[in-house]
Amino acid sequence: MFFDFGLKDFIDILLVAIILYYCYKVMKRSRSVNLFYGVLIFIIFWIVISKIVGMKLLGSILNQLVSVGAIALIILFQEEIRHFFYDLGAHEKANRLIRFFRNDKGNSINEEYRYDREVIFPIVMACINMSKQRIGALIVIENDIPLTDYIRSGETIDARITQRLIENIFFKNSPLHDGAMIISENKIAAASCILPISHDLDIPKEFGLRHRAGKGITSETDALSIIVSEETGNITAAHNDQFRSHLSAEDLETILMKGRF
Ligand code: ATP
Ligand code: MG
Repeated sequence: MFFDFGLKDFIDILLVAIILYYCYKVMKRSRSVNLFYGVLIFIIFWIVISKIVGMKLLGSILNQLVSVGAIALIILFQEEIRHFFYDLGAHEKANRLIRFFRNDKGNSINEEYRYDREVIFPIVMACINMSKQRIGALIVIENDIPLTDYIRSGETIDARITQRLIENIFFKNSPLHDGAMIISENKIAAASCILPISHDLDIPKEFGLRHRAGKGITSETDALSIIVSEETGNITAAHNDQFRSHLSAEDLETILMKGRF
């Protein structure tokens, strides 16, 4: 049996291991890692019973369950499957492919400087000012994936980005200060938007809902979010489901130039 083991089998096992690891990573990020272990234990039990030991009765019952298992898995893991395909599509090379098919002639300068200076400068200045004054803020900047549904959840603004307008919106008594501001196509598209909350268990305790919402949107889309903490004044950026904290004005400017870390 071992003599039949060739390069093809090795690649086969390697690919299964990579897929399992990828599934584990995606599920660890959401809270369904125990579900993943449960399914894995069930599959191992099924292989042992019906393929290795060859118990006919129990094996046939398990076979029946496995035959409807694919549909059950899709229902159980629909959220994770979405994340899995999003992660796949969000990969840098896939993004370039999408831009190529959308006929987006991004040259090397555009790759490096994602947004215009008119977008970057007011955001950096406003964030630094709000940080000093301990004003909480959450700004999301759209990238390739449209944020239309999230923009609709808030109040439409559709205004040129200025430092004073950003600060005014997040000012404590402003009716629009709650929720997120969304920047789309070099404009403030909306404020008071509701974002998906990240359920990641590894988020530091001092980060509350504002930070979780800022991270949540970056696990669903390729957007970049900037969070100013009302409690500490710290400026944090989130992209691709990762945080970068304690940002200086220069750090923030660099991140905004690239549109990612
Ligand atoms: P801070 O450091 O500023 O206190 P935090 O991460 O501790 O931030 P909270 O204190 O819980 O977060 O902040 C609550 C604010 O977060 C709300 O007033 C609201 O503006 C914003 N927020 C909460 N949930 C969402 C959401 N789903 N989408 C957008 N904004 C949200
Ligand atoms: Mg808080």
